Amino acid sequence: MPEPIKLIFLGTGSSVPTIKRNHPAILLIYKGEYILFDCGEGTQLQIQKAGLSPLKINKIFITHWHADHFSGLLPLIETMHLENRKKPLEIYGPDATRFVDSLIELSYWSIGFPLKVKDCKDNKILFSNNDYEIFCIKVKHNVPAYGYCFKEKDHWNIDIKKAHKFNLSQKDLKEIKNKGIVRNVKLQQIAKKTEGRKIVYSGDTKETSALFKVARNADVLIHDSTFIDNAGNKDHSCAIRVAQLAKKYNIKKLILTHFSKRYKTNKEIADAVKPIFKNTIVAKDLMKVII
Ligand SMILES: [Zn+2]
Repeated sequence: MPEPIKLIFLGTGSSVPTIKRNHPAILLIYKGEYILFDCGEGTQLQIQKAGLSPLKINKIFITHWHADHFSGLLPLIETMHLENRKKPLEIYGPDATRFVDSLIELSYWSIGFPLKVKDCKDNKILFSNNDYEIFCIKVKHNVPAYGYCFKEKDHWNIDIKKAHKFNLSQKDLKEIKNKGIVRNVKLQQIAKKTEGRKIVYSGDTKETSALFKVARNADVLIHDSTFIDNAGNKDHSCAIRVAQLAKKYNIKKLILTHFSKRYKTNKEIADAVKPIFKNTIVAKDLMKVII
């Protein structure tokens, strides 16, 4: 069984929060690592309500600098400082260096741990290790905005019987996993590939093929769904169109979020999209999804 990827929807509202829907924030937990996407007002309290510790977050990805997506950042950083955090905190986003500097300037605190800040550029890999990578995708909003793709690395399972046929030693096996070839034997000849899982988060955007092309075949697509049906809006998406595109691009699971406060129930949104794309979840605050 692969290591579970947990998604916790901390806030599923849009610019104006409601009693039921907090400002946007999604926590992804993978192999003990806490990765936060967006950090609207009240995010640290939502994390506590989910029974988790905000101190465990090591990476924060901000889609764009509208207050509903970043206003929880400063209080979260201050809590980390007050709780004696020493390890670095990574923050990514469009023009993030400038915005994080300005944010820190707003406070009297000097922070007792390093902030490592990186700016987004089109399709740039922002972070990569042996297990996964995260890169950004430029989307269509009324300010510079990026979606993010979390891509687990593909995994090769070596068939020991086949490896023996080629007389490969333990050292050879290590090398072939790293380089893809050893003594003219290719990795494909002795191993089977398991495709890594892919999770894409749109942030705020008008539906755009740039994002859907990256999201093609994704295990999960989390998408802006400010409106059910308002095709005239240039800055946000509508659930019906997103569901049609999810079908076209073979998305395995669509999770809609970032709803206008005009929608009072999940049912009215689900009723509109389920006939188009059955495997849709209408997110609600503190909902957990395990992949
Ligand atoms: Zn927003």
